[in-house]
Amino acid sequence: MNGAGGGGGFRIEVDRDLCQGHGVCESEAPGVFEVGPERTVVVLAGRPGASERRAVELAVKYCPTHALRIVDEPVADTGGGGEP
Ligand code: SF4
Repeated sequence: MNGAGGGGGFRIEVDRDLCQGHGVCESEAPGVFEVGPERTVVVLAGRPGASERRAVELAVKYCPTHALRIVDEPVADTGGGGEP
């Protein structure tokens, strides 16, 4: 078994100033990212399941502008709802 990094979940942050709509992220994780008509990434799943983690990591890795970021979260199911 491999202990996936962190038992909690993770979320995705996008720096839209950096995103240039290359679509690499969509190719790597089509269930999580989509490039909209304005050539800016849309995050379909802000908090993907652990099964998507690997694909998201690849998207982060290969995003040519480094616009994506994974933020690990502790095990906390219901957030306070005060996220920016
Ligand atoms: S790969 Fe990076 S630059 Fe390209 S659409 Fe995704 S976030 Fe934007």
